[in-house]
Amino acid sequence: MKIEPKDFRVPEGAHVELKKWPTEVKKVYRSKHDYHKILDDHVAALSEQQQLLYSSRRHAMLLIFQAMDAAGKDGVIKHVMSGVNPQGCQVYSFKQPSETELQHDFLWRTNRQLPERGRIGIFNRSYYEEVLVVRVHPELLHDEGLVEPINEAAVWKSRYRSILDLERHLHENGTRTIKFFLHLSRHEQRKRFLARIDEPEKNWKFSRSDVKERSFWPQYMTAYQECLSTTSTDHAPWYIVPADDKDNARLIVSMIILETLQKLKMSYPETSDDRRQELMAIRRQLAE
Ligand code: ATP
Ligand code: MG
Repeated sequence: MKIEPKDFRVPEGAHVELKKWPTEVKKVYRSKHDYHKILDDHVAALSEQQQLLYSSRRHAMLLIFQAMDAAGKDGVIKHVMSGVNPQGCQVYSFKQPSETELQHDFLWRTNRQLPERGRIGIFNRSYYEEVLVVRVHPELLHDEGLVEPINEAAVWKSRYRSILDLERHLHENGTRTIKFFLHLSRHEQRKRFLARIDEPEKNWKFSRSDVKERSFWPQYMTAYQECLSTTSTDHAPWYIVPADDKDNARLIVSMIILETLQKLKMSYPETSDDRRQELMAIRRQLAE
């Protein structure tokens, strides 16, 4: 059976139970060679679509990546976007907020980096951290300058509403948002952490704090489930991408981005008769 983007899409209003969503599925590719071929095809088609996006300047594309550590966000972004003109694409990684960022509302820092029409913006982590890591560690809320006492339940509810409002607003103004949760099994995360310790060239990737966060796995899954259930909409859908096989995850992500771009049915701006005549006149001059 053919694998399609809709297999991974969270329908609006769905109640997500992550245990029921696979972290591994049938491979989209038959061999490593086949993988490279499919990825190259996707990358070439993406590059073409990005040029169309840029030349028509009607839409922006926002790609959001969220995942547990070692799920492969960086690799997906690197490989899938490798063929796209760097001028048409911007990647932002959002880490713990700075002092300045904490002086503002929780959407401020990401709003400043939203892609303009014609461009693809990639968020490696995003405002969703505010209902994920902060939900798992609610003590962080006390550093966020909110009015005390804090009613936690009310905070999450209001953040979800702000996010839904923002994404609808963006959609109405031409930004197409797609959100990826790279779904990694706890077992595979352990394997990848061990490889980061055992293989010297991967040591730099290892962080003690990642292991600490791993101990909150069930709490993260609960936070993700609620987030995916609440914020997947028809116009800004979540895709739960099985991430235990990195190559497969890259192909699935590129397939989903491509499908979304192709659905915009973009074409190069038409040249008017007047413009054509003007161009022909210039051509004659050049030929003299
Ligand atoms: P990599 O480890 O691949 O370099 P990363 O995205 O995990 O990428 P890190 O610097 O390891 O980057 O971690 C960033 C940390 O910042 C994550 O633990 C994330 O949960 C945290 N973070 C991001 N946004 C917020 C936020 N708004 N509030 C609190 N913590 C946040
Ligand atoms: Mg990390």
